[in-house]
Amino acid sequence: MTEKIRVRFAPSPTGFLHIGGARTALFNYLYARHNSGSFVLRIEDTDRSRSTDEYIEAIIEGMKWLGLDWDAGPFRQTDRFDIYRKYVDRLIQEGRAYYCYCSAEELEERRRLALATGKMPKYDGRCRNLKAPVPGEIPAVRFKMPQEGQTIVDDLIRGMVVFDNSQLDDFIIMRSDGTPTYNFTVVVDDVDMRITHIVRGDDHLNNTPKQIHIYKALGYEIPKFAHLPMILGSDKTRLSKRHGATSVMAYYEMGYLPDALVNYLVRLGWSYGDQEVFSREELIKHFSFEHVGKAAAVFNPEKLLWLNGQYIIHSSSEKLTELVMPFLVKEEIIKEDQFLDKAWLCKAIDTLKERSKTLVELAKSLRYYIAEEIEYNEKAKEKFLNAKSRDLLIELKDSLFSISDLSHQELEKVFKMIVEKHNVKLKDLAQPVRVAITGVTESPGIFEVLEIVGKEKTMRRLEKAIKVIG
Ligand code: GLU
Repeated sequence: MTEKIRVRFAPSPTGFLHIGGARTALFNYLYARHNSGSFVLRIEDTDRSRSTDEYIEAIIEGMKWLGLDWDAGPFRQTDRFDIYRKYVDRLIQEGRAYYCYCSAEELEERRRLALATGKMPKYDGRCRNLKAPVPGEIPAVRFKMPQEGQTIVDDLIRGMVVFDNSQLDDFIIMRSDGTPTYNFTVVVDDVDMRITHIVRGDDHLNNTPKQIHIYKALGYEIPKFAHLPMILGSDKTRLSKRHGATSVMAYYEMGYLPDALVNYLVRLGWSYGDQEVFSREELIKHFSFEHVGKAAAVFNPEKLLWLNGQYIIHSSSEKLTELVMPFLVKEEIIKEDQFLDKAWLCKAIDTLKERSKTLVELAKSLRYYIAEEIEYNEKAKEKFLNAKSRDLLIELKDSLFSISDLSHQELEKVFKMIVEKHNVKLKDLAQPVRVAITGVTESPGIFEVLEIVGKEKTMRRLEKAIKVIG
């Protein structure tokens, strides 16, 4: 019987969930779901000076927003120190690890010397064969690494990667203050949590030979590895804040849909023919490491924005109504508890979907539908609200007075009558009306806009524009 697949996402809570971390979490999630396996969330918080509860909350918030649900955890490494201690003791007893009494100053001095004489700075094994403890010193614990031969990492993405053992040194698995180190805890946890596939960024590839020797020393089967290619910014350097927002929740704030971000993240490394847009079900169905490339992926904010626009176009207006609410509040277009007719809002969104690339843009455009008063864009006002348009606006206001319902059909009739009477083009009427009603020169079709804004507000705004012209 084949073993059930178990993967994990193991963030260190020393920052927010960022693009790279989210991509790692996503690939783990998709691999688990594709194989009906389990997805474990483990918080690697042994670095107490840099880990905070706020960052743990933020990482969880980011994962929930992206819909990357996990099956077990979140486990915290700081809750598991007893377990690590047991494994350390075992390795010492079995002669696979030893106490090291070298002080930080001594180690630094030897490091400097090695560098000065052109040697690789690695621990010289001084305490490997100590017969007795050094009195008065609290030791760290080091793992005995093989000094010769090679270690091969058989990676699902990279293929065979060979490391010379002479490059590896006896690394510390437990510091003198009793805290265990990453390369050790990660193996203990992955064993204890029965992880079958380790999927992570390739910045950890160099750690893998060290971890493989811990597995061997403990007598456990070595899991499969998949090291994901790096993510670069447009200038081909490692993605960082210099390239723009890297925190996942910053994309929420900017009005991105979680499914659009997920769709974008998956394409950072994975492909399926030349398909660009995938539903969650399709991603789960098609995901495998076979189609993850070795080459670094380049983060392209314009493509992400385009994709977000696609997701907005293809979302139902009902769904967008819900999603846009917090942005309407944030942009101070509505108050938190303000009542809005959902069916009416849906109609307004119908007209704006194709023109909005983010929920923030959508909210901002909704302002002229929802707000009591609009503000004019100065240039638009100058160009279109002037003596030339005054009579047209007055004529329109008077004609609309007797119409009870501003339907598309009625409006078309009235507009036609006015342009014929004044011998002008439709746009000579439509643009001033657009500025009078929306404050700007670009909007959905003018009949649609008036229909949604409704008679009362339309009349009021026409009156105001006429007054402004004077
Ligand atoms: N905690 C490590 C990190 O955040 C991940 C370790 C791993 O996946 O093995 O980089």
